[in-house]
Amino acid sequence: MPQFIYWFLFALHQYLLIFAFSGLRVLLHLWRFCLESKSKIFNRVPVEDRKRVVIVGGGFSGSMVAQKLENDFQVTLIDTKDYFEFTPSILRTIVEPQHIKSIQVLHSHYLKHTNVIQKECRAVGAREVILDDRSVPFDYLVINSGSSYNSPFKESSVVLSARANTLRENYYHIRKLRKILIIGGGIVGVELAAEIVSSFPDKEVIIVHSQAKLMNRFPKKAIKDAEDYLCKHGVRIIHNERVIAHKGSIFVTDQGSEIIADQAFLCTGIVPNSDFVRASYPDVISEFGYIKTNEHLQMVGTTPFRNVFVAGDVLNIREEKLAQLAEVTAAIVVHNIKALDNHKEQSMKKYRSFSKPVLISLGKDWVITGFLAALLKDVVEFKTMVRYW
Ligand SMILES: Cc1cc2nc3c(=O)[nH]c(=O)nc-3n(C[C@H](O)[C@H](O)[C@H](O)COP(=O)(O)OP(=O)(O)OC[C@H]3O[C@@H](n4cnc5c(N)ncnc54)[C@H](O)[C@@H]3O)c2cc1C
Repeated sequence: MPQFIYWFLFALHQYLLIFAFSGLRVLLHLWRFCLESKSKIFNRVPVEDRKRVVIVGGGFSGSMVAQKLENDFQVTLIDTKDYFEFTPSILRTIVEPQHIKSIQVLHSHYLKHTNVIQKECRAVGAREVILDDRSVPFDYLVINSGSSYNSPFKESSVVLSARANTLRENYYHIRKLRKILIIGGGIVGVELAAEIVSSFPDKEVIIVHSQAKLMNRFPKKAIKDAEDYLCKHGVRIIHNERVIAHKGSIFVTDQGSEIIADQAFLCTGIVPNSDFVRASYPDVISEFGYIKTNEHLQMVGTTPFRNVFVAGDVLNIREEKLAQLAEVTAAIVVHNIKALDNHKEQSMKKYRSFSKPVLISLGKDWVITGFLAALLKDVVEFKTMVRYW
């Protein structure tokens, strides 16, 4: 094909994309304007007389609860960060730093009627949450404090610009490395290895995993596809061993193996962020640090808390901790707060466990578990980020 036709088609394609996205953006703003006007016309309660909802944590669940309640309640979002981040795409940014701007957005950008406070919540009282310098009273409290993971995959207490710089520096650092060790072969370790080998085929990548299979809680087919992909791309996988010590660039396992690497990434275990709740209500915290609830997602200890709800990773639900779980539980909490507030307690929804499809991206390829998850991760990312435009 002559070069100019190629460039013409390319320009047309780009132009159509921009046109489609701009149209979508206008429609979204129109839709929001209609919702807001509806709320202004039908919700005649002045803002200062509305019930106060305090939300702790602005990840997948907290940001969604704030968006859905801010037109009908006085909403305050307390988050250690000043932005929302699409965590599943963080691994991509480690090899493609220009992708950062597509997956982060300031809370102040998408929340129009929410009071955003960038602080850490230190404790929870019966009718107020305690910060370092003040307390914030609530009628309803929603705890969405999520979980912590090793740096650089998740960070707390940072502003957006600092986070973007750290991720960029990480990229330039990785470019210089020759041998990379990944400790932990769960979904994060597997996806990180795949991102690195697909972007930097010259790097030597080793995964040390304490189990006989990578991603051992996932379906057999997904495990096989992931292992085949990694082996095909030269990743060395060491099963049934744990890294227990390191001296400089030598990492030692419990089976006595010694692995030399320029850098190790720790891709193991998540830790629920519940210490600030434990301080006041130790009885609501499970053995592993998650917050206990009833099926309506109201916090429960020795006594139930009618006006305190919990959603997302920090919930004491024995399931894979996923963004989808965070969104599903957030939607139930939104419904139940509205039901409670309208004295329709009997119409509150219950959370029921269901099988969720999971998309595991392997560099530029991908593996799907469950049914009908035939969406690329990019599409899932787009679908989520569009909410924050
Ligand atoms: C590297 C990585 C890859 C992942 N990939 C996928 C994937 O492909 N698909 C998928 O479905 N899931 C994936 N997940 C899981 C997904 O990111 C989580 O399930 C999701 O982020 C949980 O959302 P959340 O709202 O419960 O909490 P979080 O996203 O953890 O947000 C919690 C927020 O609360 C804040 N906070 C915590 N404590 C306090 C406090 N005391 N005061 C104020 N603020 C506080 C935190 O700073 C944070 O902003 C991945 C996770 C990681 C780490």
